[in-house]
Amino acid sequence: MNAATPAGGPAGEPFDPLAAVLGLIEDAAEQLGLDAGLRRIIAIPERVLEVAVPVRMDDGHVEVLRGWRVHHDTSRGPGKGGIRFRGGMDVREVTALAAEMTVKCAVVDIPFGGAKGGVAVDPAPLSLGELERVTRRYAFDVATLLGPDRDVPAPDVNTDARVMAWIMDTISMISGQSTPGVVTGKPLAIGGSAGHLGATSSGVVQCTQAIFERLGMRVPGARVVIQGYGKVGAPLVYLFTSLGMRVVAVEDVAGAVHNPAGIDPAGLAEHVARTGTVRGFPSADPIGAGELFRIESELAVPAALAGVLTADVAEHLGAKVVVEAANGPTVPEADSVFARRGVVVVPDVLANAGGVTASYFEWAQSRQGYPWEADLVAARLHDKMGRAFDATWDRAERLGVSLRRGAVALGVERVAEATRLRGLFP
Ligand code: GLU
Repeated sequence: MNAATPAGGPAGEPFDPLAAVLGLIEDAAEQLGLDAGLRRIIAIPERVLEVAVPVRMDDGHVEVLRGWRVHHDTSRGPGKGGIRFRGGMDVREVTALAAEMTVKCAVVDIPFGGAKGGVAVDPAPLSLGELERVTRRYAFDVATLLGPDRDVPAPDVNTDARVMAWIMDTISMISGQSTPGVVTGKPLAIGGSAGHLGATSSGVVQCTQAIFERLGMRVPGARVVIQGYGKVGAPLVYLFTSLGMRVVAVEDVAGAVHNPAGIDPAGLAEHVARTGTVRGFPSADPIGAGELFRIESELAVPAALAGVLTADVAEHLGAKVVVEAANGPTVPEADSVFARRGVVVVPDVLANAGGVTASYFEWAQSRQGYPWEADLVAARLHDKMGRAFDATWDRAERLGVSLRRGAVALGVERVAEATRLRGLFP
């Protein structure tokens, strides 16, 4: 299996990310003793918009793509969550990701609800013009849901600052006024924030340091395997190495490489810039599909797509700790295996929340029209992530459950409180 292949469930069933996240929310609701009405309000998505995205391609023919924007829960504030472009995407995936965002924003205690969107398209073969037309038409199609006080998208898988700039411009053109607060992850020149780009990776590293400290494990010298070499995975190779850790294996969609002495971050970055993949990196050995997570290490970081840590992978995982940089990398059955084997997992809703936390700071700056210095962003990010980690750890310890169940309990409790305080309209 490689980073592009979401895996199946235990009996070959396709992994259902929505069932997985709703199961976690239901479990937390049960633990918190929430009444049935409140549970239903929290579990069922507020609104699901499916749109057709017709786009003229460069050769003149017209493609009609499918797109979605989902608001899962907005009781704590405007919807927040990325937009992903991925072939084969469907509404269950988008809804699952939106529900994860509800929990994530609550875990880091930022004033947003959960949303997500995307278009079922593989952007790799698109020209720049085609990509822009897909983005702008999609933004127009879902514009009624967006706005600084309604729903604020950000980059996700296969989208970036350039895509955010087009969305911001499209919404600004429709409304006839500059609307920088409608997206985060924008380029700096149009209201982006210092420190946004690397924020998810910094949060992952901070969670790694925190969990190693709690478990009495040494950071320097610790071996790391990373699945994914994109916006989050690539900076991680540098960041972990700079802490004295040894990144011994890295995998991307095209292949995986292994070097027990540690992979040189600059060399790998240079190789990927030249060839487009980690495969064939000369200072490491190629390894086969499915081998990465079997390598003996202290830390495994899934930083690609959902559903890759199956029960079978979990059974043979060579790492002692998993820090989830991707959204939804672990299937529910794998969590039971990790619990039995004593593998500690720092869950996605905490571990990768640095990105959305930096998004919150960017949104605040766009609303204020006043950029913050990079060190202020970094300090506030560190503070938010530290508090979220400690609160999750304490909750899990108090309940005697995994960090994932502790984090979801914390998040669902905050969402439930907001929902209860606001009351039921009308
Ligand atoms: N796409 C990122 C995530 O899944 C960031 C979302 C955001 O900043 O709104 O958390």
